[in-house]
Amino acid sequence: MKVLFVSGELAPFAKVGGLADVAAALPPALFELGADIRIIIPRYGIIDSGKYPMEKILSGIEVEFKGEKNKINLFQAVLPGGSVMVYLIENERYLSKGGVYLSEDASSCGNEAEFERFGFFTVSVLEILKNLEWQPQIIHCNDWHTGLLPLLAPKNFRTITTIHNLAYQGRYREEIVLSALDKDKKIFHPKDGHIIALREAILNSGLINTVSLAYAKEILTEEFGCGLEKDLETRKKDLSGILNGLDINLFNPETDTDIFRNFSVNNISAREENKARLQKILGFAEDKNIPIFGFVGRLTEQKGFDILIPALEEMLGENTQIVILGSGDKNYEEKLTAFARKNFAAKISLNFKFDTGLAQKIYSGSDFFLVPSRFEPCGLIQMIAMRYGAVPIARRTGGLRDTVINYIEPDGNGIVFEKYDIKDLLEALKKAMEIYQEKEKLLILRKNGMAVDFSWRKSAMKYFELYQKLIFTR
Ligand code: ADP
Repeated sequence: MKVLFVSGELAPFAKVGGLADVAAALPPALFELGADIRIIIPRYGIIDSGKYPMEKILSGIEVEFKGEKNKINLFQAVLPGGSVMVYLIENERYLSKGGVYLSEDASSCGNEAEFERFGFFTVSVLEILKNLEWQPQIIHCNDWHTGLLPLLAPKNFRTITTIHNLAYQGRYREEIVLSALDKDKKIFHPKDGHIIALREAILNSGLINTVSLAYAKEILTEEFGCGLEKDLETRKKDLSGILNGLDINLFNPETDTDIFRNFSVNNISAREENKARLQKILGFAEDKNIPIFGFVGRLTEQKGFDILIPALEEMLGENTQIVILGSGDKNYEEKLTAFARKNFAAKISLNFKFDTGLAQKIYSGSDFFLVPSRFEPCGLIQMIAMRYGAVPIARRTGGLRDTVINYIEPDGNGIVFEKYDIKDLLEALKKAMEIYQEKEKLLILRKNGMAVDFSWRKSAMKYFELYQKLIFTR
């Protein structure tokens, strides 16, 4: 089973969100199951070649793009901590300057410049395949970045696309794509003068899957389909949902070097030190009787800020501490800043940056984790939170529905609310405050979360089955 896994993000080389985590954890799990899987990404400017040793294996390969000949080089590295090979394509003009996206949160995916980067990456992958001795049977594409690959790939390759988030589609003006790729318009499925990369992936991939069972069903509806529900409907029998796992070696409270004190479900009291030290570094009162509510993630509408900010405003009257780590939409940064400044500067800590070390400290020191998403394909933060003993407060949608089980004594691992509105979220927050006063209940909740098996193994087996289906039945 030879698979080329094509991704726009890959941890730890270049990470913005969950796609990077999945790209770093799923291939090693498939490798363990016997697949010869290799990853290919752009060699972005931010990738530190001092930190990640790499070797140039191909140079000066020509790629036609926008009517011009461009040269690319191919580097080879090993995914840290494992044996999976990573290919990195270098090209100064389109791929190798700066970070992954023009924006901080992937929302720039419809820009012409973004098309140039990922359109160029797509055709470069195909050129690399012409020059590489190793040949995959399957090209595993991910999200809009690689949306045109299933359409453009020669038919001897089988293709599968994983949709990590349907909201980001790569919607480009038709003439931009047509002039860059020098292809006949007839092979595309333009809509309102636009070619939509993710739509092409949906219509052209051998198989399609998304990152939870619940989201696979939701995206067939108008509410969650982001305008692509009818296209997905035509591919319904080839569409499936496989829940993401976590890299349980990386996200491991027993060994994590980013946290203040390691702990496990068997010595959970050691966790308290993480809370105390987190309070200290954030400038909070060092009081173990005050619950900390944490959030880590992209600041986007998806993550629920429109209900979270007003709900927090009411909550902060209570004895609470709130820490937010994230970057993205400046609008939400301003709203959060205004609200923190207005009232309760000492109780809320805002950190508008990307900081993996701080993220781990928040997971290990918070009591509760805020996941009020409007929609959530899978979501990793609730799983990481649970693994580190923080109790998620989550809306029942997408992957949150599949992973967070509402606490009804003695079962459950989180607090779940149904509707995307302030009232339901506030009720959930109040329930959290009540549970916080009943230490035994809280301990049960923490332990239930920490006991869940979040490893990739089960899910990787399902991907393996999809690969088999692609090879043997298509
Ligand atoms: P999404 O894929 O929608 O961004 P997920 O919950 O699936 O959301 O994954 C988010 C991942 O990115 C998690 O590993 C989270 O810890 C990490 N992350 C997001 N924002 C930050 C940040 N500002 N600093 C550190 N890690 C972050």
